[in-house]
Amino acid sequence: MSGTSEGPAPAAELDRRVVTESEIITSAGAGPPVVRALAPSPPSYRSVFTAAPLAMAVVDREGLVTGANAALAGLLGRDQDTLTGAVAADLVDLTSDTRAWHAYREMLRGRRARLRCTRRLKHPEGHALWVRVTVAPLPADDGGVLLSVADISDHRELQERLRHVRMHDPVTRLPNRALFFERLTEALEAESYEESGTGRIGLCYLDLDGFKAVNDTLGHRVGDQLLTAVAERLTRCAKDAARTGTPLVARLGGDEFALLVEDSTGTEQLADLAESLLDAIQAPFDLSGRRLSVSASIGVVERHAAGTTPTALMQAADTTLYWAKADGKARWTFFDPERNAHRVTRQALASTLRPAIDRGEFALEYQPLVGMEDDRVHGVEALVRWHHPRFGTLTPNRFIPLAEEDGSIVPLGRWVLRTACRQARAWQVEHPDGPPIFVSVNVAVRQVWDSDLVADVADILRETGLAPELLQLELTESAVMGSSGRPIQTLKALSDMGVRIAIDDFGTGYSNLAYLSRLPVSVLKLDGSFVRGFQIEDRTAKASPADEVIVEAMVQLAHRLGLTVTAECVETSAQATRLRRIGCDTGQGWLYSRPVSPDRISELLGTPGVQAGVGNP
Ligand code: C2E
Ligand code: MG
Ligand code: MG
Repeated sequence: MSGTSEGPAPAAELDRRVVTESEIITSAGAGPPVVRALAPSPPSYRSVFTAAPLAMAVVDREGLVTGANAALAGLLGRDQDTLTGAVAADLVDLTSDTRAWHAYREMLRGRRARLRCTRRLKHPEGHALWVRVTVAPLPADDGGVLLSVADISDHRELQERLRHVRMHDPVTRLPNRALFFERLTEALEAESYEESGTGRIGLCYLDLDGFKAVNDTLGHRVGDQLLTAVAERLTRCAKDAARTGTPLVARLGGDEFALLVEDSTGTEQLADLAESLLDAIQAPFDLSGRRLSVSASIGVVERHAAGTTPTALMQAADTTLYWAKADGKARWTFFDPERNAHRVTRQALASTLRPAIDRGEFALEYQPLVGMEDDRVHGVEALVRWHHPRFGTLTPNRFIPLAEEDGSIVPLGRWVLRTACRQARAWQVEHPDGPPIFVSVNVAVRQVWDSDLVADVADILRETGLAPELLQLELTESAVMGSSGRPIQTLKALSDMGVRIAIDDFGTGYSNLAYLSRLPVSVLKLDGSFVRGFQIEDRTAKASPADEVIVEAMVQLAHRLGLTVTAECVETSAQATRLRRIGCDTGQGWLYSRPVSPDRISELLGTPGVQAGVGNP
């Protein structure tokens, strides 16, 4: 084939032609020159081709080598003579890659200007060879192409070594965060899971419990040894657990490790893996003559690869790891979408609490506090609600703990106090004939510690014109028990002002009446669980139930200590009857009224002789 008149000039003929500088054009300075027009070359041209340090071959339109230089023979480890007539594409492996193969054939047909690619070849002596192959066209009248091959093995090896360093952790020699994310991203690319496999992905995100203590007490050297030993055990687990393929084990930083299971088969596989990881870590470590026991917490996520992103997967794993820690450490926990939704809501609520106060999204409802003897409304408890634009009306249990955590309870509490006092004063003005009702406002511990509650109360009373005797503040037992200093001084100052202090949810905490009596407290609000206890016993036995005996003793003692008693959660008239017999002073609960809007309370106050139950909507 190579001898036909249409074929390209064989290498042997090249020396008879002349190449002048102007005839060699270099495309943008990159790649070998394109030989455009070859004039008859002087004998020296052949020697240029033969002696050139760049490995080259002339290839005809059929793809066969018509001439190759010594550099190419040397590079490929072949006899120069055997190259002539060889299939050029086979010499430099252009057939194994579809794109390169297609481009090469286009070049041979004269339909493409240039081709450049990198190939990994196997040298006859056994070692691998990385080459950069460049294919450039020869003049149209000759046809064919000039193939040049540059040995880039050293460069490539250096590159690979650098990449290895960049992608691995020097302490444990495990893949690092960068490599982990690269693999995770690849695994989540549609092509990789759609072509084959299960279409699922799993992740164990592991963190050692108390690693900081090891570092702090035994030093970083022992810390590093521990990490290395942990890495070895994790790697062994990964190998043992391999069903579809060995999971990638990576150190994400500090004492955090991750195992990536591509093509996972389901949650069970991940549960088994997590279990084996915990087992492996549990066995004591012998490090420089020291025996160390550690444990780990693991967040486990397993899901369809479609529709998830590396960030989403890592976020889920991170949250789940946090749960494993919060649930007591030394355990693995599965990602729970419901628990996560709750967390997301919590976050969404926490982040909008403060602005919501200014936007006026909070409102107060009031629940009557009714005298057990006269069935009259003596006061009302202010209960805050959040009319959230997205989540609807929220009860305080959903957001008060958040507000306490981030401190927004201070401005929120101030708003509640001001609104409740203003309202109480308004009712008093509206109904000047009857005895005025008091308002009972819940106060969180943090309000006592983080704000000047005494000054706030004094300011608000002055501003609203409400008499201090018409304000009651409810604090929980835990807020006042065992504390000294600030809370006690605050209570004293408020009490001196004439404000009443009530202990909310009494009976759920310390229940130390003797201690409470020494504080300026005047009201006990018995926790709803006592009254609920009555209800259960009600149905089962006629005899005086244990709860009732306790409550009776508590009420008697409280009275002797000068405290009045309010029962919470009074839902039935049977409960009310018993509470009355026991000597309870006031009742609060659905029997009398649910928490209602201020307008409902106004109506109630306008009704002569307010009776139990009339407040129910
Ligand atoms: P709490 O102070 O013990 O308030 C009584 C809670 O019991 C209210 O729940 C009330 O709706 C509910 N309740 C009343 N009667 C009955 C009944 O007969 N049966 C039953 N099962 N429940 C009854 P709510 O409004 O959800 O408030 C929950 C808690 O949130 C309050 O418990 C209080 O600790 C806190 N809270 C409410 N408003 C505020 C506030 O403005 N500031 C602070 N710091 N905490 C507040
Ligand atoms: Mg309360
Ligand atoms: Mg209560």
